[in-house]
Amino acid sequence: ARRHVALKDSIRSIPDYPKPGIIFRDITTLLSDPRSFRRAVDALVHPYAGGGIAQVAGIEARGFILGGAIAHQLSCGFVPIRKKGKLPHKTVKMAYALEYGTDEIEIHVDAVKPGDRVLLVDDLIATGGTATAAINLLKQIGAEIVAACFVIDLPEIGGAQRLRDLGVEVRTLMEFE
Ligand code: IMP
Repeated sequence: ARRHVALKDSIRSIPDYPKPGIIFRDITTLLSDPRSFRRAVDALVHPYAGGGIAQVAGIEARGFILGGAIAHQLSCGFVPIRKKGKLPHKTVKMAYALEYGTDEIEIHVDAVKPGDRVLLVDDLIATGGTATAAINLLKQIGAEIVAACFVIDLPEIGGAQRLRDLGVEVRTLMEFE
């Protein structure tokens, strides 16, 4: 019997979602498998354990699930970066390009203290548009971005490289075409 299943095998691939020709990489099957969830969180935490991270910033919605677990393990805080209109207090907003049109994310103005070392978390990086907007928000409120981490990289789309070109450390656990 095979005892060690690759973490990548815990990802479910859904063809033609959300539209024809797109393969959606679904992390719900990783999250629902206890060993895979722990292994993913442990792997994302490991480089930053003892690294003085003050806050994990998670991007709605799957970045909340991973980010909450990572923050707990790092014994640091968690701050949400949300789609527009969801945060109750004063926010800063950033629009970013989608394939068709734009979307907007926001963060509370006082979510971090100036100079706080922040780790950005999401499930997947494709174009990097969402993460770049999130980094801009965090910088606007005075955060020091230590790194951005993702379970899945789609390297052919180039988002991780785009972030690295901006000087941001990027860590990912697996790649899909
Ligand atoms: P980007 O802004 O093009 O890098 O897209 C990344 C954002 O879209 C992240 O917030 C992801 O959660 C979401 N996303 C795009 N494609 C997928 C996918 O195949 N699976 C899960 N999330 C995706």
